[in-house]
Amino acid sequence: MPHVVIVGGGFGGLAAARALRSLPVRITLIDKTNHHLFQPLLYQVATAMLMPGQIAAPIRQVLRHHRRTTVLLGEVTGVDTRNHAVEIRTGEGREERVSYDFLVLATGVQHSYFGKDEYARHAPGMKTMADATMVRNRILSAFEEAEGETDEARRRAGLTFVLVGGGPTGVEMAGAIAELSRLSMREDFRRINPQETRIVLVEAGPRLLPPFHPSLSESTARHLRGMGVEVMTGKLVSSIDENGCRVGDEWIASRNVIWTAGVAASPAAEWLGLSKGKVRVRFDLSAPGRPEIFVIGDVAYYEQDGRPLPGVAQVAMQMGRHVARVIQARLLNNAPPPPFHYTDKGNMAVVGRDFAVFENRRFKFSGRAAWLVWSMIHILFLALPNMRLTVFWQWVWSYFTEQRGSRIIVDPRNYSNP
Ligand SMILES: Cc1cc2nc3c(=O)[nH]c(=O)nc-3n(C[C@H](O)[C@H](O)[C@H](O)COP(=O)(O)OP(=O)(O)OC[C@H]3O[C@@H](n4cnc5c(N)ncnc54)[C@H](O)[C@@H]3O)c2cc1C
Repeated sequence: MPHVVIVGGGFGGLAAARALRSLPVRITLIDKTNHHLFQPLLYQVATAMLMPGQIAAPIRQVLRHHRRTTVLLGEVTGVDTRNHAVEIRTGEGREERVSYDFLVLATGVQHSYFGKDEYARHAPGMKTMADATMVRNRILSAFEEAEGETDEARRRAGLTFVLVGGGPTGVEMAGAIAELSRLSMREDFRRINPQETRIVLVEAGPRLLPPFHPSLSESTARHLRGMGVEVMTGKLVSSIDENGCRVGDEWIASRNVIWTAGVAASPAAEWLGLSKGKVRVRFDLSAPGRPEIFVIGDVAYYEQDGRPLPGVAQVAMQMGRHVARVIQARLLNNAPPPPFHYTDKGNMAVVGRDFAVFENRRFKFSGRAAWLVWSMIHILFLALPNMRLTVFWQWVWSYFTEQRGSRIIVDPRNYSNP
């Protein structure tokens, strides 16, 4: 049987594996983590609403009924395109080669500090589960440290949170930290008042949520301000250190700067001998000059109607399914499917537990109705039924009690800003 190797068990890789299941192929899915991560809800782990296991599922468990699929834990370090093999390094540092007939690269992106990698130490980003639990440790520890702090200036810096980047993740984090401090924690401390927490959301562009219609950006900013978040647009963050950051001309003393601003492609392009960045794929999603190698999801660059497709889960999933159709046509000697075409079902962002914005080609609306749609869609797209059930109950419980599900500082050695 032909062997399809998929690198990455995120939205794109998993969709491809599922769609290939019924074809006469052997599949090997390789990921450097053992889980499929539902990144849109990472911010809820970071802000103590959900537990890690509620938004991440072992890839092996998700695919356990796929008898012809093998799941390997390992980090791909290169592709030998001449001999059709991927090179893997496993946890013990063991090197291995896996040969393929078809290769699907779905390795996503990582955060980028726009060349200022030194910011990473003081302003963690959020891309992996490890990032989210570390951010959660820091946020919760900030309140604990402030309760024990006697110096007023240090206490204020400890209770100041700066989110760099006004895209969906920054907006969602700002809303969630506001609710955590103003609602969930309001009665828990004796020396500090968590409701006095300062939350600043900084966006370099002229408005929040740049991909959305300006009216939705405006209603989001209004809603955040109503929750006590300071929204700063048109302001660049020009330096970050352990004491705070410079925003425009203002120095903000803060021990909690969180980076949600930029991403860079994983090194798939370099593996293929192409120049760094996303891989500009052909209409069937294959890499240039490599019809047997497909690149999908966030790491692929594909233009539709003159514009690049956005890095969202729907694009990755639709690409994964399209690749399965292309492989099927090749195996059965059928005519190839038409060029890939993305069907945009809409974009959403959420602020707290009662407000979201939704937009697609036909509609745009915000408020509680959008929040209900957001909640239903996110529950439906979780990978396993037990995750759907527990997230649903957690949200219902939190809606009525204002309490959160996971306010645990897990690693006391790795909790505070260095
Ligand atoms: C905080 C956050 C919030 C988001 N919110 C939304 C949202 O609300 N709606 C939306 O549509 N999209 C959202 N996105 C974007 C969405 O998650 C991505 O578009 C989607 O995950 C892309 O899927 P993918 O398969 O390309 O990559 P990913 O889902 O990132 O999967 C990549 C996989 O590849 C693995 N991998 C990477 N390198 C290697 C290697 N060398 N070897 C082995 N395995 C490797 C990784 O471990 C990972 O499992 C959000 C992203 C983030 C970070």
